[in-house]
Amino acid sequence: MKKLLLAFVLFASAVFAGETVPKNIILFIGDGMGLSQVSAGKIAKGKLEMERCPVTGLVSTWSSSSLVTDSAAAATALATGSKTGNGTLGLSPDGQRLKNVFEYAKEKKKSTGVAVVCSLTHATPVGFIVHATGRKLDAEIAEQIAASDVDVLFGGGRDVFQSRLSELRKKMPVALTTEEFRKLGAPGKAAALLYPVHPPLAAEREVSLKELTQKAIEILSQNTNGFFLMVEGSQIDWVAHKNDGTNTVSEVIDFDNAIGAGLDFAAKNGETLVIITADHETGGFAVLDGSVENKTVNKTGFVCGAHTATLVPLFAFGPGSGVFGGVHDNTDVGKAMIRFIQASEQ
Ligand SMILES: [Zn+2]
Repeated sequence: MKKLLLAFVLFASAVFAGETVPKNIILFIGDGMGLSQVSAGKIAKGKLEMERCPVTGLVSTWSSSSLVTDSAAAATALATGSKTGNGTLGLSPDGQRLKNVFEYAKEKKKSTGVAVVCSLTHATPVGFIVHATGRKLDAEIAEQIAASDVDVLFGGGRDVFQSRLSELRKKMPVALTTEEFRKLGAPGKAAALLYPVHPPLAAEREVSLKELTQKAIEILSQNTNGFFLMVEGSQIDWVAHKNDGTNTVSEVIDFDNAIGAGLDFAAKNGETLVIITADHETGGFAVLDGSVENKTVNKTGFVCGAHTATLVPLFAFGPGSGVFGGVHDNTDVGKAMIRFIQASEQ
């Protein structure tokens, strides 16, 4: 037994250069969140929760088919550690199935979950659950999600899951309203489909991403083997596509509040790695005028209404965070998370 333990320690230290292997991983993805989006949030909020992270890095996001990635290829890179082409989810460019962090976590008997402010059938959450080529119909994706073994499914998309509700309810309680969500308690698994399709903008969301994150952590942390949670600030990207600087600020702050909940848990728990990054930047966004004193962003600009190839920021906190400092490719982030899950004790 001692030999086995020594072998494990040697293996772990060889792979991670002295980094402690975390039991839990919470990955926060700000969809479309480049450095200027973070800067706008900081100017308006003063101090961001993500600034509590001692480790920062930069991440390249290009896909195997394009310098400018889409959310599907980027989610696949983060979830599987492998590049794929735009529009592809959980498959290699030649169609091979790529094992993702949720599947590695399940092999270690960990719980898994997603908490997002878009339909659950949108590209980023789907990239952690589904294997599909091209633009699949929402209904096909919903079918794969409902058939999956993911323990927490929080987001929108009630309409597309309508025909899957009885199937889902056999596995877990399913909240369809804010009231039902707040009465969930802490079952071992749970779904919340709080909107017919996508949630509205941050100011109009009854349940904030922070509240979804707190409930997801409460549920998932009951598993003594640990958990992997992916939380997405989904609409930072959407408002940037519309070149809407005002709502860029509110979406980044909503996302940052959720990050605070993750960091609060990680700080108390001590065995949780928190990683905050983006799948790509959107809009070529820039802050052009405002005031740090008054916490205002008065003038912003966008160079386009699409994604860009600029490097995105990364912040990390907790055991294992040291490996994320510096400049990495998005596949390196996925590979490091997979190595941590594989090296974690059951
Ligand atoms: Zn995206």
